[in-house]
Amino acid sequence: MFPPSELPAVSSGPAAARLSFPGQAESLCYDSKRVRFCSAWGPTLTARILKGAEFRDQIYAELRVELDALRAAGITPGLAGVLVGENPASQIYVRNKIAACEQLGIFSAKLTPSASITTDELVATVEGLNRRDEIDGILVQVPLPPQVDAKRVLETVSPEKDVDGFHPVSLGRLVTGRPGLVACTPAGCMEILRRSGVRTEGANAVVMGRSDIVGKPMALLLMHANATVTICHSKTRALPEVVRRADIVVAAMGRPWMVAPDWLRPGATVIDVGTNHITNAGEAERLFANHPERLEAFRKKGSALVGDVHPGAAEVAGAITPVPGGVGLLTIAMLMANTVKAARLRRGRAAGAPHPAEAARF
Ligand code: NDP
Repeated sequence: MFPPSELPAVSSGPAAARLSFPGQAESLCYDSKRVRFCSAWGPTLTARILKGAEFRDQIYAELRVELDALRAAGITPGLAGVLVGENPASQIYVRNKIAACEQLGIFSAKLTPSASITTDELVATVEGLNRRDEIDGILVQVPLPPQVDAKRVLETVSPEKDVDGFHPVSLGRLVTGRPGLVACTPAGCMEILRRSGVRTEGANAVVMGRSDIVGKPMALLLMHANATVTICHSKTRALPEVVRRADIVVAAMGRPWMVAPDWLRPGATVIDVGTNHITNAGEAERLFANHPERLEAFRKKGSALVGDVHPGAAEVAGAITPVPGGVGLLTIAMLMANTVKAARLRRGRAAGAPHPAEAARF
């Protein structure tokens, strides 16, 4: 129907072009690198891969400029990480966050209470960090041991230092559209959309997942960006049909490869938040039945990391984040951005630096 020679030319650049085809109700997003061949109904697309490293590097470059300005005003932002016990995944997460601080010249402190700590003791630890002036951000790595009241601990973090954005005050500010600290993963997803030129205004967005740390803030951010948002969860009926209406799909369920290619509308932008560690051989064999190279890699390593979206989605979507190498990298970048922002908001005025609230994005 549209041989490649008749495809309209597109300008190069990071933003996807939007193209309407005569006689078709739908319009498709594409850029010149993605049009592969034409089928009977029009061009078949291969998604633009939205690589987290590219956006992370942009954010770090911007943060370096801001950090220089803060240092000139006598402020070095500081982040404290509280790592309770010896959960191997948590140890890796905290190590990566501290490494990012070192990379940017942000002061960091790591506290490692034992797994037997009580709620009262941990609350006292956080209160101590609230009082330390050189600490701008406090991150309490979850999950916490079962004897600890995690909600009480997280609510002890001063909202001014709540760089994870988990405190009810932070969520309240987000709901009411006031500047504040926003949960890092959804904030990172918004940066991916913004920096890759995906239009949110008027777009139909579907968020799969309604957790306090990902799904809910994600939906609020998309709503503030003027998308029409549908929030889905485990009780949503006819989920694939709902997803098929979306221009922007955010998958945050923790369900390996659940979102099949035929759930997607051609050209949709797909943000895959899912981070699923596969360690069970039976599950790997089922999942990778048609992906011998993935199965082989699993057998060698004993584990695999997959998202919520099936890789075949890249043949239908207009743009898609990979797992690994997508949203996860932005989560740490936004933690750094929140730490710098917290320092500016709390200490910037006192040091005579310009107050940034008017320029603050969600
Ligand atoms: P939660 O388990 O807290 O929430 C999962 C959500 O998905 C719930 O709202 C649940 O619905 C919904 N859900 C589960 N199964 C289905 C289903 N079959 N159909 C529709 N909805 C379903 O997870 P999180 O929000 O904490 O995390 C979600 C994913 O994102 C995980 O894979 C996690 O590892 C990843 N993650 C990645 C980060 C990153 O940096 N890349 C950071 C944070 C999370 P209901 O409410 O009805 O139970």
